[in-house]
Amino acid sequence: MDDVNASVGGYLRDLAFAQASRQKSFGYKRAAAAIYGLDVPVTDLIAADGTLQKIPGIGPGSTRIIREVLTLGESPTVEQAIEISERRADIRRRRELRRHFLSRAEVLRVLRDPALTGPALPEYRGDLQMHSEWSDGSPTVGEIAAACEARGYEYAAVTDHSHGLPIAGGMSMAAAAEQRRAIERVNASCGGRFRLLHGVEANIAADGHLDLTAEEAAQFEIVLAAPHSVLRKTYDQTDRLLTAIRNPAVRILAHPRGRITGSRAGVVADWDAVFAACAETGTAIEIDGDPARQDLDYTLASRALAAGCLFALDSDAHTTGQLTYAETAVAHARLAAIPAARIVNCWPLDRLLSWLILR
Ligand SMILES: [Zn+2]
Repeated sequence: MDDVNASVGGYLRDLAFAQASRQKSFGYKRAAAAIYGLDVPVTDLIAADGTLQKIPGIGPGSTRIIREVLTLGESPTVEQAIEISERRADIRRRRELRRHFLSRAEVLRVLRDPALTGPALPEYRGDLQMHSEWSDGSPTVGEIAAACEARGYEYAAVTDHSHGLPIAGGMSMAAAAEQRRAIERVNASCGGRFRLLHGVEANIAADGHLDLTAEEAAQFEIVLAAPHSVLRKTYDQTDRLLTAIRNPAVRILAHPRGRITGSRAGVVADWDAVFAACAETGTAIEIDGDPARQDLDYTLASRALAAGCLFALDSDAHTTGQLTYAETAVAHARLAAIPAARIVNCWPLDRLLSWLILR
């Protein structure tokens, strides 16, 4: 078992959905989240006498599942609960939608593994997707700059949602102009040590068009484009993504599938055609490090690498605490063996800026 915490967390999620009682379901969901978020594999928490160390959020029912998985490699208790549950078809569907997600402990192991040839954490110079109080995030742009600088970044992009996504607090163009001035004030106070870029996460409509005109997109220093709707359909949406990629304003195709762990698979597309178009236009493919997204994951990312794509590794943070999500993206890039030279966040600021302007 490569990622024991992902395996245990998955069983606990299954068990949560098999509960008739909402309270019990909530308890197992909380336990699953605690296991996914642990810094160490649960195998490290077994004492010499065989007892499991106390893990916050884990009760006796969940401890029993952990023990089963550790000794048998599976959980008969959970399998039985699924078998008698009215929701068994839904639980099996959700199980399929957890493939290639890494637990936090596995992310940390991958970051330390010297056998992997992808980017090392110190090569990562800045995060290019995050949200502030100007859309659906909580921090101010000043708080973002301070937190990114404290993480050792040389630059970062604030990429709030554009006006076509009111559900996520999308900014009007007037608000975006005001935000630009706030970012300029932050940059002036950073005195050249750190540079905050004014970006935007544009929304890709079902027909592939952005919610920004070319003139509006030109107001930002970096434009990410991402799908936020029609993410549960099973028909092919290659043309939707190709239209967005061919839009000259778009530099990064963000969370390309729009998948959410255990919930939805996201856009169905001919990914090799998508990657070929990204390589041809110089559009970077994002590895979104939000633990619930992990989009692209390392399996698709290695196909994008073979196609000749550039990559952006981003946190998609909505709080400054979530900036650590960038580490999940770096871990997938390491598993896919992406050279740092192909990752725009590993470039010095000058090179990043010329890539943003040239096209
Ligand atoms: Zn998004």
